[in-house]
Amino acid sequence: MANNILVVAEYGDGKFKSITHQLLGEAGRLAAQTGGTVEAVAIGNGVKDAAGQLGAYGAGKVYAADDASLKDYDGASYAPVLVELVKRTQPMMIFLGATPMGLTLGPRLATQLQCALTSDCTAFALDGGAISVTRPVYGGRAVAVYQVKKLPLVATLRQNAFAPAAGGGAATAVDALTVTPVALKTKVVEMTKAETGKIELTEAPIVISGGRGMQGPENFAMLESLASVLGGAVGATRAVVDAGWRPYSEQVGQTGKTVSPTLYIAAGVSGAMQHLVGMKTSKVIVAINKDPEAPIFKVADYGIVADAMQVVPLLTEACRQLKA
Ligand SMILES: Cc1cc2nc3c(=O)[nH]c(=O)nc-3n(C[C@H](O)[C@H](O)[C@H](O)COP(=O)(O)OP(=O)(O)OC[C@H]3O[C@@H](n4cnc5c(N)ncnc54)[C@H](O)[C@@H]3O)c2cc1C
Repeated sequence: MANNILVVAEYGDGKFKSITHQLLGEAGRLAAQTGGTVEAVAIGNGVKDAAGQLGAYGAGKVYAADDASLKDYDGASYAPVLVELVKRTQPMMIFLGATPMGLTLGPRLATQLQCALTSDCTAFALDGGAISVTRPVYGGRAVAVYQVKKLPLVATLRQNAFAPAAGGGAATAVDALTVTPVALKTKVVEMTKAETGKIELTEAPIVISGGRGMQGPENFAMLESLASVLGGAVGATRAVVDAGWRPYSEQVGQTGKTVSPTLYIAAGVSGAMQHLVGMKTSKVIVAINKDPEAPIFKVADYGIVADAMQVVPLLTEACRQLKA
């Protein structure tokens, strides 16, 4: 078995999704230690031309399975492509995103390869020849560290838990894979995109999260306004989601989403450990909290000890004027 890592890229709306760059980043970090190569595969219809870009993010070898039968993701058609590639190239690990695609494709792939799977991984470590993998367990109540005893390993990696590859390298030649269309039991008749007009939380460059200190669901309109001025997305704590003020899709933290934006503004958020694990890698953290002892200030780059009800509108207006 080679000590290469195979990254399964995700492509959509004309570009590779940010999870792809994060998978390449972690694969590159590990490959630098093992002396292996990072390989990447793009699967879909019309992905071949774009696939070469993955070379710029550290993939030394890029494969593309480009076929009309692969237009819409279906585990039944995508898994055979991967199984054949894995059997041919013998990577030590196969990385997928812990995304709707990866979380369904990973188990299918591991079953067909008869190998181990670790899902929703948040860290990898190499110690000599031993590989250990960290992932939350029991609904996020504990963190388990597994030692990998047998390779290859299929792993899905939590979104925004890993630093993305820097990019800036050269594009690489693409090895086109032969695709044998699979007779599927279902077909996608229609795809309707949720037209929320909002930026997806995990992709947003700026996230404004509200906690119980926002006092009630109606006050999140303030955070929406700030997010719209800054071009960001609104997040929430679990307390807020549990209270039914905001949807679960906005929950940031151990049992919600992990975000790593350029700017994270936390308003009325205490900074519980379970919230911090979902946002602490943000580049700049601004906390607004009435309580100067709130734990959020320990991770904040800028802290405002004040009533969020007063500060958020002032901040929004100041940003609006600056942008005008
Ligand atoms: C297994 C498990 C998993 C969990 N997963 C998550 C998770 O994924 N995400 C998550 O967020 N939490 C999670 N939690 C819950 C977490 O422990 C905290 O309870 C939660 O994050 C607290 O939310 P909060 O900061 O909104 O509320 P609180 O802790 O009640 O904090 C409210 C803050 O608002 C401040 N405040 C009040 N009024 C104002 C005002 N007018 N202006 C400014 N500040 C004000 C207060 O000083 C306080 O600091 C989890 C817990 C467990 C046990």
